[in-house]
Amino acid sequence: MSVASVPQTVSPDLTSRTIAYFSMEIALAPALPTYSGGLGMLAGDTLRSAADTGAPMVAVSLVHRHGYFKQALSPSGQQSETDVIWNPSTLPPAGKSVTITMQGRAIKVSAWRFDVVGVTGHVIPVFLLDSDIEGNDPYDRTLTDHLYGGDTYYRLCQETVLGMAGVELLHELGCLPSVYHMNEGHAALLALGLLEDQIEGKPLSTATEADRLAVAKQCVFTTHTPVPAGHDQFGRDQMYAVLGQERAEALERFGCMHNNLLNMTYIALRFSRWVNGVAMQHGKVSQEMFPEYHVESVTNGVHAATWIAPPLQRLFDDEIPRWRHDNQYFRSVYGIKPSRIANAHRVGKRKLIEAIAERTGEALNESVLTLGFARRVATYKRASLLLQDPKRLARIAKKIGGLQIVFAGKAHPADTAGKGLIQEVFEIAGKISRGSLRILYLENYDWELGATLTQGVDVWVNTPRRPYEASGTSGMKAALNGVPSLSILDGWWIEGCAEDVTGWAIDDGDNDDAEAASLYDKLENRIAPLFAKPNAWARMQQHCIAMNGSFFNTDRMLGQYFANAYFPLAPTIDESPSAEKLGEESAAKSVTASV
Ligand SMILES: *Cc1c(COP(=O)(O)O)cnc(C)c1O
Repeated sequence: MSVASVPQTVSPDLTSRTIAYFSMEIALAPALPTYSGGLGMLAGDTLRSAADTGAPMVAVSLVHRHGYFKQALSPSGQQSETDVIWNPSTLPPAGKSVTITMQGRAIKVSAWRFDVVGVTGHVIPVFLLDSDIEGNDPYDRTLTDHLYGGDTYYRLCQETVLGMAGVELLHELGCLPSVYHMNEGHAALLALGLLEDQIEGKPLSTATEADRLAVAKQCVFTTHTPVPAGHDQFGRDQMYAVLGQERAEALERFGCMHNNLLNMTYIALRFSRWVNGVAMQHGKVSQEMFPEYHVESVTNGVHAATWIAPPLQRLFDDEIPRWRHDNQYFRSVYGIKPSRIANAHRVGKRKLIEAIAERTGEALNESVLTLGFARRVATYKRASLLLQDPKRLARIAKKIGGLQIVFAGKAHPADTAGKGLIQEVFEIAGKISRGSLRILYLENYDWELGATLTQGVDVWVNTPRRPYEASGTSGMKAALNGVPSLSILDGWWIEGCAEDVTGWAIDDGDNDDAEAASLYDKLENRIAPLFAKPNAWARMQQHCIAMNGSFFNTDRMLGQYFANAYFPLAPTIDESPSAEKLGEESAAKSVTASV
């Protein structure tokens, strides 16, 4: 796969970069398989906004030579996976390499530089770490190959490379950031790298509480999921085997273990001065998960110029050209005639219908209400909720003059339950997709398909089980394209839903049946009647962009990180308890419990 089309620039001055952004995955270009889903998209969109707004940032990730995976689906919906191998050698090399010790041996790590170029030409350099170097142990050469592949041992090795080699490489390149942003716990071992710097070559056993605080003063942590399985943890044996005794003991001493496991989230919590969730509700849920720490919220966004369909971009260039420099101008979309927005959206819908015809041979109808549901297939996202009552759905489709539903999504190769869900959707669709109801499942949900779908459907559907959707960002992409959402009130939608204005809430129920019934009610009684009135529908499209597009973007999000987390006017005082105090507190709790 070639990256030759990506413009590369001369190496930017790294000494002036004050913020280092670390992420296990970053979606850098549609052709590069260096991401799996929402987390990597967010990282990429964050850096694209950083480039647009001239932020003094630099980023670190792994090169992932074999990518995540390409999905194929059999006629019964059985998923199979293939590697997506790419060759980074068309990118400029970082020019330096570092050697760290892990698994009791030396491993050399180099990097490739990918430049994210902003609207004014400002560059955010991204260093993609690479351990495939001659002289390294054969196993170690594979460590930067597979995103979320391998076993837990492989994963801990990868996270050690990301955190520890990442920090060293930046220093080697003359880059000495004052803020390190851990995008998810995967990157938390950067704290160990900083701690080793802090004690200047002395044994880690001499590191004090003051040293921990000195590291924490430099670190900012964003947690991304309230699903416990989403927080990486590793056995004590693996920790000792990969990191070695000295580092393992330091992590134990500084309170990074949880339930006797090394927990990446706890490393990040212990070594950060600022912690946030990715939507207001998610911050609160995370606060309950980690009561000893103070957890704030910064609601996610998406990079507008990456996700808005070309015809709409042209309309905005015409009417509010400053939107490319400042997304707050989207509020002024209220000054644009709704019919012009509707016309631009229709072009996106046609493009979607063409893409579907090309991929599947199916011909969808441009004038029929079309719903989109595309996301990582995890059980809590309930892909099949929309099909909970197939008979009712078919009845509604007939009554409202037709309904088209487009699904897409990958299940993690090891997620058997998720793979089962895809087959369930196929099975139900096979039974009821005929006449006025058309249901399709598209293969290999990725950046391009995500864009085509969010730019082309009429309504974006999201059905997570509360409160597991930390934020969700695909609905934001839809909103920027004038597409309302029909969603469970979870994640970002709690903040984005103005009923009958920007979309619709699926009412909370005690069970799947009740929530599906609410979904069908809204579809039949609110959405379809409005869709039948083009002027009213166009007005709704305008609300989506003016109200939600102007807020749920990464320009606004990054501004909030700057003002609250990176360089707050009133610095956050570190109130996280020391390891000793944590010990006392849990002792006190167990006393209370036994009373
Ligand atoms: C935006 C995006 C996601 C994240 O969307 P969610 O709403 O969080 O599920 C995942 N995958 C791709 C390809 C995307 O473009």
